[in-house]
Amino acid sequence: MRFFSFLVRVACVWLVALPVLAQQPLTQGSLFLGKTTPGNKVFYKDQPVMLTTEGDFVIGFGRDASLEQSYIVETPHGKQTTYTLQLQSRDYKIQRIEGVPGKYVVPPESRLLRIKDDNRQIGEARASRTERDDFLSGFLQPVDGPITGVYGSQRYFNGKPRRPHYGLDYAAPTGTPVLSPAAGKVVLAHPDMYFSGGTMIIDHGMGVTSSFLHLSKLLVKPGDIVKQGQPVAEVGATGRVTGAHLDWRINWGNVRLDPELVMRDYPMISDLDDAPK
Ligand SMILES: [Zn+2]
Repeated sequence: MRFFSFLVRVACVWLVALPVLAQQPLTQGSLFLGKTTPGNKVFYKDQPVMLTTEGDFVIGFGRDASLEQSYIVETPHGKQTTYTLQLQSRDYKIQRIEGVPGKYVVPPESRLLRIKDDNRQIGEARASRTERDDFLSGFLQPVDGPITGVYGSQRYFNGKPRRPHYGLDYAAPTGTPVLSPAAGKVVLAHPDMYFSGGTMIIDHGMGVTSSFLHLSKLLVKPGDIVKQGQPVAEVGATGRVTGAHLDWRINWGNVRLDPELVMRDYPMISDLDDAPK
């Protein structure tokens, strides 16, 4: 009898939560994709996590996230089960950038209000949590070009330590079209922020957003719905840069993720269709 109840419990757990993609290794900077029975609730750090109607959900882990993570699944009867996830730790590069104009290393007092307002707008745009599920169709690389900066690097500008780099930088000439890596809704399009210059944020649903920095031209406006692969902007050299490039970031709310890991773990649906069955 006891063995029987054990079997029932295993079967229930199996139904309650089952990750749909084998994301190996799950690490700092990853976007975990989980699945649970529709009707269940999911909590992470005591906060409810949004679910699709099919029970898919995502949880993002930041650059320095603790390696032992857990989330709670609650059934409609109120039964809670805790699931733990073990992350692998990462080593990050050190990146030294020389020749940055002094006003971008130590911004003048007169620019601090503007910087604060830029940050407020970015924070509000990334706080959007809509029921879109565009991220489930996967991500494509937004621009062609050599990678010149990666996620997580500790940075020194003109020898001074600054915040880590959270984007993936592709060198490309000014005017190169930037393609939306996944479908979504434009939530911010600003022609000239202090550090990031021309800046765009696209909401891919459930708190997952793409940000594009240093743009020379914006081709869509806030509120527009964009398709995967649609040109949304042009590469530029605006804000704190030493040359033309696209800086692409992916966030889960205010948690900064590694775009390279997200592209690896969320391949485009069309790529999956081409895969041998
Ligand atoms: Zn960058």
